[in-house]
Amino acid sequence: MNTKIWLSSPHMSGKEQDYINEAFNTNWIAPLGPNVTGFEKDIQSYLGENNHVAALSSGTAAIHLALILLNVQHGDEVLCQSKTFSASANPIVYQGAKPVFIDSERETWNLCPEQLERAIKDRISKGKTPKAIIAVHLYGMPYKVDEVHGLAKKYNIPVIEDSAEALGSTYKGQKCGTFGDISILSFNGNKIITTSGGGALVAKQKEIKDKAIFLSTQARDKDVAYLHSHIGYNYRMSNIVAGIGRGQMTVLDKHVELRRKNYDFYKNILEKTDTVTLLKEPESHFSNRWLSAILLESHESREALRLRFLEDNIETRPLWKPMHQQPVFKDCPSYLNGISNDLFDRGLCLPSGSNLTNQELDRIENVLNAFF
Ligand SMILES: *Cc1c(COP(=O)(O)O)cnc(C)c1O
Repeated sequence: MNTKIWLSSPHMSGKEQDYINEAFNTNWIAPLGPNVTGFEKDIQSYLGENNHVAALSSGTAAIHLALILLNVQHGDEVLCQSKTFSASANPIVYQGAKPVFIDSERETWNLCPEQLERAIKDRISKGKTPKAIIAVHLYGMPYKVDEVHGLAKKYNIPVIEDSAEALGSTYKGQKCGTFGDISILSFNGNKIITTSGGGALVAKQKEIKDKAIFLSTQARDKDVAYLHSHIGYNYRMSNIVAGIGRGQMTVLDKHVELRRKNYDFYKNILEKTDTVTLLKEPESHFSNRWLSAILLESHESREALRLRFLEDNIETRPLWKPMHQQPVFKDCPSYLNGISNDLFDRGLCLPSGSNLTNQELDRIENVLNAFF
C-alpha cells in the first residue's frame, strides 16, 4: 500500500520546539505566559497594529466569545453562511440563539449578497432584526467584502468575520481577519498554520480584546478574593501551544506561497480538460489557497474521482455539506438559491498541504492524468 497523502497536514518550521523548551525551562506551563503574549504580538504585527488579538483555545471559542461580546442572547437570530464548517454555526446555539442560513454565490462560493439582503428584509418584516452576520472566507477565498459589509452597514448589523481558513488572504490588499466588527482565526491541526489546536479573536478596540481575555479566563473580577459578576469560560490559549504558534508565524508567508503553488499545479493539469471548474480569484481577491478545490461535471464523476484517489491512498474531501442540509439544523430558516447544494454535489477538495513532496505531487498527477 502506498503511504497516505493527506488533504492538509501540519508543517513545522523547526523553531517551534525552541519556544516550547523555553516554556519548560521557565516553568510557564499554564494558559498564560510569554509565548501567549508573544504570539498575540506576532499576529498583531502581521495584521496591522490597529488590530487587537486575544489568543484562545480554538476558533470555535473565538466565535462563541464574539457572539457574547455582540450581546447575542437567548431567542436572538444570527445570519450565517450555510456553506461552511459546522463550527461557524454551533456557537450560535450555545447562546440559545437561532441560526438563519444564507446560500452562496458562484464567484467565491461564499455569502450571496442577494440572499443576504432577502433574509435581512424578511427577518425584519417578521419582527426580528438579526443580531449578527457570520461571514466566512471559505478555503481561503475572501467573500465579497464590499457587498456583504455594505449590507451590514445599511441595516446596522455587526459582522463576525470567520477567517479560520483565510489567514494570509487579502481583499483589495487588506488582510483577511481585519474586516469584521470582530474577526476570528483558527490554528487547528489542518489550517494554514497550526498550534495543534487554538484560535484567536481579533478586535478593532483594545477594550473588546480585554473583555475577551476576561471572559476566557473565568471572568474573575479585580478583587483579592474570587469575585464573579459574569459567567466565565476557560477559553485561553496555553503557553505551550502558543510556542508552536510563534514558530509557525515565521513561515506563514512561505506557507501561502507553497499552497498557491499547489493551486497552480492543479490548474496546469486540469485546464486542459473542459469538464473541471477551478475556483478562480476574482479581481481584488487574493486567496491563501488553504485548500485547492474543483467542481466536476456531475456528482457521479466527483465520486468516481474521489474513489480513484482513495484507491491510491490519497485523501480528498467533498466540499463542506451546507448547514441547511444538516440534520441538527433542519428546523432553522434558510434563504437558498441552489448554489451551495450544487457545490456540495460536484465539488472536491484536493491535497493542499504546504509540505507535499515532489514524489507525492507526481502520484497525484498520475491519478489525474489517468482519470481525465
Ligand atoms: C476550522 C474552522 C473553524 C473552527 O476552528 P477550530 O479552531 O477548529 O475551533 C471555524 N470556522 C471555519 C470555517 C473553520 O474552517
